[in-house]
Amino acid sequence: MRRTLIVGNWKMNKTASEAATFVRELEKRLPASSSVELVVAPPFTALESVRAALGPSSPIQLSAQNLFWEDHGAYTGEVSAPMLKDLGCRYVILGHSERRTLFGERDDGIHKKIRAALTHGLRPILCVGESLAQRESGKTDGVLTQQLRGSLAELAPQAMAAIAIAYEPVWAIGTGKAATRDQAVDAHRVIREFLASTWSPDTANAMRIVYGGSVTPQNIGSLLKSDQIDGALVGGACLELDSFARIASDAASIGV
Ligand code: PEP
Repeated sequence: MRRTLIVGNWKMNKTASEAATFVRELEKRLPASSSVELVVAPPFTALESVRAALGPSSPIQLSAQNLFWEDHGAYTGEVSAPMLKDLGCRYVILGHSERRTLFGERDDGIHKKIRAALTHGLRPILCVGESLAQRESGKTDGVLTQQLRGSLAELAPQAMAAIAIAYEPVWAIGTGKAATRDQAVDAHRVIREFLASTWSPDTANAMRIVYGGSVTPQNIGSLLKSDQIDGALVGGACLELDSFARIASDAASIGV
């Protein structure tokens, strides 16, 4: 059984003090007990204040939105895996489409970041997804498998168990046009089949594949009804208390 994973990607939003207030309020609105794993990914500058606001026994886990693959050194402006681990992060989002398109990230660099994360006990959430042009020209499956192959090349099966995949079609991110459940399920199947054939069916079945792209309180229930969709990576709708709390509660009520 795969535990449902709901991740809020705050992107470049909220100051450290806004972030602390937000998570304190969020905690109050969550169901008393839930089988869902809830994660927030604030900007680097708010990780410490969110950790302090949540306290050590909070059900909400902390994620970073990126890292650099070296541990330390002359890399102005970068942040390393040991630094994030020390701040209490459990997860790190890697290969987000905004990193790929706006900052030129490629699969080989994402691969190094995944290895660095795993070395330091951080769980990568690897984002993959096709553009609209790629979908319209029938290239979706090829794009997904190429991104997975390039980012995950030659990782040991034990390492794979720590990784979650986020299927995020680029055309659905921040557009209000979420993929239909059928489109998401088809892509999740392609991803799981690739994992099964490259590693093993057991490895593939143990890994969580979550959907991201205009997830809202209105569509989360429908998406999670498929047993192929193990959760969601949420952007815009995670910045507002009511909508993220509703997504978390709806996911908990569908329950795994
Ligand atoms: C994202 O940033 O990963 C994302 C899915 O954003 P949104 O939910 O706003 O589409």
